[in-house]
Amino acid sequence: MDLPTFSPADLLSSETLSGQHVRFSFGNTYARLPEQFYVRLNPTPVAEPRLVKVNVELAKKLKLNPDDLRSREGVAILAGNRVAEGAEPLAQVYAGHQFGSFVPQLGDGRTNLLGEVVGSDGMRYDVQLKGSGRTPFSRGGDGRAALGPVLREYIVSEAMAALGVPTTRALAAVTTGERVLRDIALPGAVLTRVAASHLRVGTFQYFAARGDVDNLRVLANYALARHYCEAEHTERPYHALLQGVIARQAKLIAQWMLLGFVHGVMNTDNTSISGETIDYGPCAFLEAYDPAKVFSSIDRGGRYAFDNQPHAAVWNLARLAEAMLPLLALETRSEEGAIAVANESLAAFEPQFKTARSAGLRGKLGLLTEREGDETLAEDLLQGMEDNEADFTLTFRRLCDAAAENKDDTGVRELFADPTAYDRWAVGWRRRLEAEGGDRQARAAAMRGVNPVIIPRNHLVGEALRAASERQDFQPFEDLLEAVSRPFEERAGLERYAMPARPEELVHATFCGT
Ligand code: AMP
Ligand code: MG
Repeated sequence: MDLPTFSPADLLSSETLSGQHVRFSFGNTYARLPEQFYVRLNPTPVAEPRLVKVNVELAKKLKLNPDDLRSREGVAILAGNRVAEGAEPLAQVYAGHQFGSFVPQLGDGRTNLLGEVVGSDGMRYDVQLKGSGRTPFSRGGDGRAALGPVLREYIVSEAMAALGVPTTRALAAVTTGERVLRDIALPGAVLTRVAASHLRVGTFQYFAARGDVDNLRVLANYALARHYCEAEHTERPYHALLQGVIARQAKLIAQWMLLGFVHGVMNTDNTSISGETIDYGPCAFLEAYDPAKVFSSIDRGGRYAFDNQPHAAVWNLARLAEAMLPLLALETRSEEGAIAVANESLAAFEPQFKTARSAGLRGKLGLLTEREGDETLAEDLLQGMEDNEADFTLTFRRLCDAAAENKDDTGVRELFADPTAYDRWAVGWRRRLEAEGGDRQARAAAMRGVNPVIIPRNHLVGEALRAASERQDFQPFEDLLEAVSRPFEERAGLERYAMPARPEELVHATFCGT
């Protein structure tokens, strides 16, 4: 194993002399898997690591000392200049359908899995450096990440976590002191990403495409043990695994739809087996409600448009089911049986997605019970929002005021180009609320717990990224991060974070930034 080199100053830093030592307590189950699963290699050191941010709360959850991470040794580890004790860095291999085309070999082209740690919740987490240098899977890429996309992933993944959406998280960001060449030269950075695991649909596809059923089985057993232990000891664990992934994805995509989140690049290599949101590239949040909205500059056909996300997810899950057919056949003892099981499992996506989305919409409207007509009530509101270009997030948030004791409709109705469209809809909504009864203040409070006031609005994300990349000014990043980390609270002084972009501030296109 190549060890990075250190200058004497590094080795004799006061932190080292005072005995400070970053302790990760790594335990690396992935590195115990067969060698076909990865290539072992260390991150490539960078010129001048500098800390941007350590996620104190997440560090504590991972039983890490945030001060240690901020030390010289800590920053060297976060930049890939030093390999932490117990880490076994590796690049994972996988395949994937990218915009519908199968690529039989992808893999970590710019990331290194350092290892796994067990958090205070007893769960095992991957700790991965993103932007950590070239690997055998880099293809034409430089293995690096630019500061802008690193901060975007930091902000948006942390916002999603605060919104209660399963997601990978950001433990830290550092700048490298090096430039990365994209359209122009940009400051480089490394993100430390934490995930329940980095198993993807594409990992299954990799072994399936090679007809390597032995390793496919190893992979499925590993996924069961790590994420679906309740399925591990059922009669048909592989069937249960497939059902489990489908169930988690159905719930996940429903959560995205309830928040106006557009992932932007739902390729099978970006579809997590654990059910987390992964790979924040050209992602964005809806402003004015437009179900057909596409932000990503490379998604020309609208494959991953907002309202196409459930379909894209089913398509990806069908690729997983396909890859798992040899395993399902072991359980059903026939190919036909395997196909029947796969189809039946996939058919469960839609009802599960719809149930989750409908329940979520009822919650957003302040309805605790389920009654006939609720679906139509919610769809009518969305139609009205679309016709009147009403801001997605604020409409639901201001409905909370309209549901409260003093029934204040002024805020929500002004979001509609034609406020009378809201008035017409609100008649039916009020009737439905009356029928349900209950305490108005309690209802408004419950609604405020599911309808965020602050999301990482695209123009504010852009502003924070520009300040950091162009002026080394990290204050807008810090401020936005702080604002999105408590998304359900209305806090004095943070009003601008709740406001939609002005027309001239609107972000129309986002970029992968890779
Ligand atoms: P993504 O679009 O980030 O999901 O990446 C798709 C594939 O391209 C993955 O295999 C990445 O590892 C690889 N990739 C993305 N950016 C780079 C880069 N700058 N250098 C090398 N590989 C990259
Ligand atoms: Mg990816």
